Amino acid sequence: MTTVTVLGATGSVGASTADVLSRHRDRFRVAAVVGGRDASALARTARAVRAEFAALADERQAGALKDALAGTGIPSGGGEGAVLEAVNRPAEVVVAAIGGVAGLVPTHAALKAGRSIALANKESLVCAGEAFMTEAKRLGARILPLDSEHNALQQALGAGKTEDVVAMTITASGGPFRTATREKMASATPAEACAHPTWSMGAKINVDSATLMNKGLELVEAHHLFGLAPNQLDVLVHPQSIVHGLVHWRDGGVTAGLAVPDMRIPIAQCLGLGARLPAGGGRLDLAAIGQLTFERADEERFPCLALARAALRDGGAMPTILNAANEVAVAAFLAGRIGFLEIAGVVENACRWGAARNWKAPSSIEEALAIDREVRHRCSDELARRSFAGPEPGRRTA
Ligand code: MG
Repeated sequence: MTTVTVLGATGSVGASTADVLSRHRDRFRVAAVVGGRDASALARTARAVRAEFAALADERQAGALKDALAGTGIPSGGGEGAVLEAVNRPAEVVVAAIGGVAGLVPTHAALKAGRSIALANKESLVCAGEAFMTEAKRLGARILPLDSEHNALQQALGAGKTEDVVAMTITASGGPFRTATREKMASATPAEACAHPTWSMGAKINVDSATLMNKGLELVEAHHLFGLAPNQLDVLVHPQSIVHGLVHWRDGGVTAGLAVPDMRIPIAQCLGLGARLPAGGGRLDLAAIGQLTFERADEERFPCLALARAALRDGGAMPTILNAANEVAVAAFLAGRIGFLEIAGVVENACRWGAARNWKAPSSIEEALAIDREVRHRCSDELARRSFAGPEPGRRTA
């Protein structure tokens, strides 16, 4: 039996994790499930996986959660203390799937508690990658890459020795605007930006996929996970989302990780701890798919990817700054306050501002969070000044 705790149990990765766990009840015990504020969704998940504890980050929903779990015998709680209690319950693997910078503290707490981390929270590596990996090394904690691209790379790495790797490539579907003109993107609504062609995910990551910022964040993630230099990491647009990552070897050989786009596959690979478990999907049928196509990413139409690459190259606190500005900009876009193309502008301004500060890479989670807060304030101020001047022409909201 492997004991598992799921952070971010009500999100899309959390739901896929619950599905894998309920398929293998003989193999997994679920120590705790943690959600944000949706009491009924968390209660449903807790019942489905027979969790031994359930916690919501939002303390005000603790009563609703308790009611929703009435009769199940599953104890529950709300607020920061309850989340920490969940993290500290004995478990071998913690699935870290809380989205955004909000996942930093609980993910780090799980790391400090010595758990193996099945890592879906990109921000732990993007905002505080050096601190996070140093801590993991010090504690001997295993980081299991759960993001589909990094999971594919991890699998491909099994084909050779780490010192023989010369480069890695991660693929991007290209998102809903892969072939769109800048004019079309300028008037894109949140609903259009969230219509992802191959994956079904939350709104923030959908927008990041539409701007290709998601791929930029994943390059930073790959840099920390696999220790490759920025110029050894590349992105390839691959609309079918079948090949997820490629490892290039010294002799010219390439090992690729393929799978249908179904998050249950990387989740099962992580939770299996070396064993391969049925994940619930069908077998990959390449003849039915017919063609796998690849294109270079267009950094002119997708400036967020270029900004992320620059932040990775420049190092220091630049990825932390990039991520904070992007979270503010995407929230403003989803709220109808700025247009789709303005997201990159907000991020670029923040990066220019940040570059002048020359901050070192955060050496702790606390330092990363302090930088994150300062950048958010700066970006919110900038957006408030903008909305004073009225909306840009041509902006529409969903
Ligand atoms: Mg991914």
